Amino acid sequence: MKELDWSNIGFGYMPTDYNVRIYYRNGEWGKLEINSSEMISMHMAATCLHYGQEAFEGLKAFRGKDGKIRIFRLDENAARLQRSCNGILMPELPTERFKEAVLEAVKLNERFIPPYESGASLYIRPLMIGTGPQVGVKPANEYLFIIFVTPVGPYFKGGFSANPYVITRKYDRAAPHGTGTFKVGGNYAASLRASREAHEAGYSAEFYLDAREHKYIDECGAANFFGIKNNTYITPLSTSILPSITNKSLMQLATDMGMEVERRPILEEELSTFEEAGACGTAAVISPIAKIDDPEKDHTYIIAKDGKPGPVSTKLYNKLRAIQYGDEPDKYGWITVVE
Ligand SMILES: *Cc1c(COP(=O)(O)O)cnc(C)c1O
Repeated sequence: MKELDWSNIGFGYMPTDYNVRIYYRNGEWGKLEINSSEMISMHMAATCLHYGQEAFEGLKAFRGKDGKIRIFRLDENAARLQRSCNGILMPELPTERFKEAVLEAVKLNERFIPPYESGASLYIRPLMIGTGPQVGVKPANEYLFIIFVTPVGPYFKGGFSANPYVITRKYDRAAPHGTGTFKVGGNYAASLRASREAHEAGYSAEFYLDAREHKYIDECGAANFFGIKNNTYITPLSTSILPSITNKSLMQLATDMGMEVERRPILEEELSTFEEAGACGTAAVISPIAKIDDPEKDHTYIIAKDGKPGPVSTKLYNKLRAIQYGDEPDKYGWITVVE
């Protein structure tokens, strides 16, 4: 293989050698299959194509200074996929099967795991789709679970930096008791238009308000929100946001740093009181927020007065990354070392 320019690979899809698949047929999961084709073949009446029976996950493997490969919070991703599947009537893949599949996909594509120094990592994308044919609106009776991996570059190419965000009032991502807490493709379809408009207007991403009242901050299309003030880490409590594993990890680290942690509804107006704020998720860990515009209200919330990431966000970011790359001890059991 031609040597990849690891620090400039960006965030797109790059083919790797293998993907792994497990089929669900006749009420049970089959054995793990290794595949070198990027294609899948399925029935045109598959439920994933018509009725959105699709759920996915996203996690990463990191190569440490010691050369070891570490996967972050594998069990949490297994559990979240089970919850998502449950939410849209797909069969749950047992945790052990999920872990076995992730480890296999990573090991088979070991040559694509970027070196420590690059700041890049291997993105792991598990997904499940309903493949059985239905025309009536019903869950499928056959499913396919796939994992592919692709190397992704460091999120902050020019260094950890703060970005502008925008509140959208024109669009909602998920209803109060809809599928917002499940990691399903349909939520993303619902966010594409708002996301494109935000990007075209020069923002990093759009923030959604609670769909019922448009009063409280929910989350971005693909990242949770947190704010920092008075030594407190505050993140929304809502029935329509996706429980981010990064957010959960940051709450633990904030507690350990002696901060208070609050999960509660956050009124939009409270944005003006935060000393720091960030969007958090697997892709960036933390994307610090410079400002949030609310164009329909003609208001701007300046969060980072100097336009730079704040000290608490920086500390949380560095700490989490250090654990992921194995630079700091894994005292919570978050890491699976690939043997
Ligand atoms: C995946 C996702 C996140 C981030 O979750 P992580 O587990 O931290 O990667 C946040 N919001 C939405 C809507 C998501 O789909």
